[in-house]
Amino acid sequence: MERHTFASLGLSPEILKAVDKLGFEEASPIQAAAIPVLMGGKDVVGQSQTGSGKTAAFAIPAIEKTDPALHAVQVLVLCPTRELATQVAGEVHKLAAGKRGIHAVPVYGGSSFERQAQELKRGAQIVLGTPGRVIDHLERGTLKLERLRFIVLDEADRMLDMGFRDDIKKILDAMPAEKQTAFFSATVSPTIRKLIDRYARDPVTLQIDQKTVDAPDITQWYYEVPPRTKFDALLRIIDFQSYRSGIIFCNTQRTVDELADDLQAQGIPSDRLHGGIAQAQRTRVMNKFKAGGFDFLVATDVAGRGIDVDDLELVVNFDLPYDPEDYVHRIGRTGRAGKQGAAISLVTGRDVHKIRYLEKFTHSAIRRGKLPTAGEIGEKRTDALLERVRQTIESGSGQGQMIHIDRLLEEGSNSTEVAAALLHILNGGEVAAPAAQPGPKPKASPKPAPSEDRGEVVAAGTADEPPRKAKPGKAWLRIALGREAVKNPRDIVDLLVEGAGLPSREVGFIALGDEASYAEVPFDFAKGLSPSGNAMPTSRGDITIWPVSSLPKKKRR
Ligand code: AMP
Repeated sequence: MERHTFASLGLSPEILKAVDKLGFEEASPIQAAAIPVLMGGKDVVGQSQTGSGKTAAFAIPAIEKTDPALHAVQVLVLCPTRELATQVAGEVHKLAAGKRGIHAVPVYGGSSFERQAQELKRGAQIVLGTPGRVIDHLERGTLKLERLRFIVLDEADRMLDMGFRDDIKKILDAMPAEKQTAFFSATVSPTIRKLIDRYARDPVTLQIDQKTVDAPDITQWYYEVPPRTKFDALLRIIDFQSYRSGIIFCNTQRTVDELADDLQAQGIPSDRLHGGIAQAQRTRVMNKFKAGGFDFLVATDVAGRGIDVDDLELVVNFDLPYDPEDYVHRIGRTGRAGKQGAAISLVTGRDVHKIRYLEKFTHSAIRRGKLPTAGEIGEKRTDALLERVRQTIESGSGQGQMIHIDRLLEEGSNSTEVAAALLHILNGGEVAAPAAQPGPKPKASPKPAPSEDRGEVVAAGTADEPPRKAKPGKAWLRIALGREAVKNPRDIVDLLVEGAGLPSREVGFIALGDEASYAEVPFDFAKGLSPSGNAMPTSRGDITIWPVSSLPKKKRR
């Protein structure tokens, strides 16, 4: 497949800088096809899936065409949902970061009309909106389209499925005659075709033809994970399957850097390769990897193409590639020379469609995997630990420690208690507040063992309020599970990861109370919650969580 750099697409230095900062190494196929045509002023019908990079394909020309000195709406992007409108707005903001005086505003239902009207009045040039709310603004005169030059219908098929056909026609009829139109859609149904015929002028149709390529004969798995928990999922898979080495592919330089940092912070020997790293350093990293100097290499496709290691135990798609060819190229590095290898893809939300697409274009089956639970990982670790204990007993290597154990036995513990406590500590377990029943007490309260993640986890006393003020940037969350139901503070971390999509490293201090527990979480997360309680879906059923500043008065004391 032909590769295109962004620099070859004739873009401004500001956009090239923004793209570089986002870590995009090369243009995706739809970007390489659509950007030059849109920049040239032609109408476009782009057939592309979500995840193909279509947002930047129209957002880059939209930004390039916007005149910052003109304080009037010049670009309108219609999106099917509020989520997509905000997502597209986010991407436009990032891409336009280096251009002064460009304002992009999302408008959608279910959020203050007045606030949006004010933002529009301040001179927004790019508007991203859902059809219903765009019509409201048009009818009330808060959105004027006299100076509009470019309209994009994003996910046109979905908008029609959602019943927006008449709204879309109304909006398109309100446009000035002299304008450029782009339709982006995964499919082009007869209804969309009619809209195109009526509203687009001699459009260029861009269909990204994918060549089919056969995948190597290895087992491929995908794991569906909540957004923002990919890193946890990766750690669990590596841990549970005891993978010792492999390559992890990401789509951007930024993700490569973040992931390599996160792996290193977990003590996992790893390094990185991407197009932003000087060639000499890349060669050093590669040689070190080949020599077994570290276990996991995190890389982009650009850097990955130069990797001449091909008998890997594991290849992970931390992000799915856009192109089936890249997918095959990535996973073809495992399991060669008769060795067993695994190819694993982590997918979130609508990425599942990409799996079907990859299956189709690689003529292979990608099986759905189930993430091991914390309990299963714990069990496996315990089994491995017990096996080591057995071997240690057989070899006699532990004899020198007997004198210390005898001390504990003399203090009144029995041998099962001592062994169980040692196993608990070795498993990274916490030391809970002393139990009420009689028994030996530790002389000094030992420092809790570091948890598996970076969160600081403790069991507090009988708190039915948070143990202290939240740290800056953090807030307390009240969770409707008391000490009886929880047992171990790690359960709370696991439930928040599972039910709220929080990465475990973002869950800080945990305090177990009699009626409820408290977890310190990022302020931005707590801010989004309803003060009257939120049902968090978990494998234990729905669990209610509240942001603490809005606890019912009587609970606050
Ligand atoms: P989209 O299909 O527009 O929803 O984009 C999917 C994701 O890919 C978004 O997170 C984009 O930021 C990212 N993306 C878009 N273009 C590129 C590119 N050329 N290289 C790497 N990532 C990209």
